[in-house]
Amino acid sequence: MDCYVIPVALYVLFGIGFCFFSQEMDASDYRVGFWRLFQPFLLFILYIYLSRSVTAGLPAGLLACATGVITGFTFPVLFHLTHRGEPHAYSFPVDFTFGLFVSVLFVALADVLLFRNQAVFAVLLTVTEILFLLPAFFQLAYFIYYRRCVNEPAVLALLHTNRLEAGEYIRLIPSTILIPASAGFLLAAGVMFRINLAAGTVETYAGFPVAALITFLFIMILLFGIGRYAFFRRTAPAKICIQAKEHIKRMQDSPLSDRDYPSHITAESVLTKNKSDFGTVLLVIGESANRMHMRAFSDYERETTPWLSGQSGNKNFYLFPNSYATWIQTLETVTMALTNKNQYDRVQKEDEISVINLANKLGFKTYWFSAQGYSDTTSSDVTVIAGAAQHKHWLLQDYTVRQYDEKLLEYLKAVDTGNNFIVVHLEGSHSDFHLRYPTQFAKWSYDKKDPYGSNPYDNSILYTDHILSQLFAYAKEHLNLQAMIYFSDHGSLIGQQRQSSFTGFEDVRIPFFVYLSEAYAARFPDTARALRRHTASCFTNDLVFDLLCGIFQVTGALHKEKNDISSMSYGFTAETLKTGLGKVSLKEDLRH
Ligand SMILES: [Zn+2]
Repeated sequence: MDCYVIPVALYVLFGIGFCFFSQEMDASDYRVGFWRLFQPFLLFILYIYLSRSVTAGLPAGLLACATGVITGFTFPVLFHLTHRGEPHAYSFPVDFTFGLFVSVLFVALADVLLFRNQAVFAVLLTVTEILFLLPAFFQLAYFIYYRRCVNEPAVLALLHTNRLEAGEYIRLIPSTILIPASAGFLLAAGVMFRINLAAGTVETYAGFPVAALITFLFIMILLFGIGRYAFFRRTAPAKICIQAKEHIKRMQDSPLSDRDYPSHITAESVLTKNKSDFGTVLLVIGESANRMHMRAFSDYERETTPWLSGQSGNKNFYLFPNSYATWIQTLETVTMALTNKNQYDRVQKEDEISVINLANKLGFKTYWFSAQGYSDTTSSDVTVIAGAAQHKHWLLQDYTVRQYDEKLLEYLKAVDTGNNFIVVHLEGSHSDFHLRYPTQFAKWSYDKKDPYGSNPYDNSILYTDHILSQLFAYAKEHLNLQAMIYFSDHGSLIGQQRQSSFTGFEDVRIPFFVYLSEAYAARFPDTARALRRHTASCFTNDLVFDLLCGIFQVTGALHKEKNDISSMSYGFTAETLKTGLGKVSLKEDLRH
């Protein structure tokens, strides 16, 4: 009779778990939670009644139940600890229900395997339990190391890591952690085995436990066997893995992520012809930088861009204070900037090409270093473009420290000299502004009551200016920098939260500058002259692709000179340029 205490206790335990640890990922009412848990609970009661399971009341049964508890609780608890108090998109995973089913599953399996006292069956049970516990063990280790729960970028990083790197990674774990962890693991496995073996000595079974076998198989089918309704697929860790796999499939399906794409388009450039030693082109993509808050581009009263303001008189720098984004969101703007798609020309799907594809064709070594997201819906198309780069790193895959943009500099330091095309994608002034800069850049005080105000925003701009100066100085000193281009994906509304539709020009007024080395300007004086002539011209950042064709000195149809601000043939004006994805004319910007 006292066996029934166990399902009741588990039901209460899982119910409490649901109430306390699933707010961030499951908006369901507690009654819904208890109802979902009622199904495995009822099954457990029925099972004990029908099979007269003794194991349920033994240490081996408690071990079986604990396997379910650990399986069910690990992810929700770690997720809760990571995202406490944050607003979150709910995904309604069934981790707790899954965990309770696993408890019943192992009680039944213990009854099947331990009905005779044979060590081999105790080993089999222990190994199966350890297999179920492994994901929880990995999640816990990840959390202890990174102080965050496992998420999609982490899984993707793992899937992208080849076996060799994985081996190196394990070697990196200090022996002060590895030795006690291995010892603890062996000890736990030994104890589990002893518990399971001891259970077999209780001779209560008259014959083969048929009810236990049927229950075991039934739960296995429920958990793993009924297609997309299978409980396992609906747990949070499984959902993360499924999303990661879908992302990889999307990447593989898009030709832009292919290093040699598109095969029917050829491109040539004198820069890399005959393997000549040209140097580095550095493209820096900013985030949410509004040029009206940048002294180098406007008459803003604060000096938020000390470095760039200092370069405005430098003849190697070309600042374009009349530049605009094509749209107000990263995905669309960056995709258009980096491909031959733009608001003005029609490009057939099969003729689409990105700057990375182009640089690969020209024989550059291509690099992509990003402080932005990797696989969420707001960044996946950008990741597709980045996918064609020969070397790529995303900061967000590394959670060891708070990530400021300066961490990107470390990736740059690993680049060798040669003909390089390097794209650096900053986190810049992405909201929340105050999270984007270290304390020494907090020049204007941040007030929690005004998170979208000028003060934190201007600090983030000040910090970006510092980052640009660092990237420039390093590339000039060590990478034979020939050209640097910086533009922001879009602007930002200051003083209010981000909007998702076009509300005015604040959101599209962006900074944009080009640097050409002394040697480059001397070798290609027409390019330098055209850029100088056009510094007062208007520009939209979907034409960055064409500018890069110009900087790369591409010959052939791919280089449309009328789109290229570094060409004397650049033909656009405020009257003909557009923003708002082709819907709004720039001449509507009255400030202009
Ligand atoms: Zn953006």
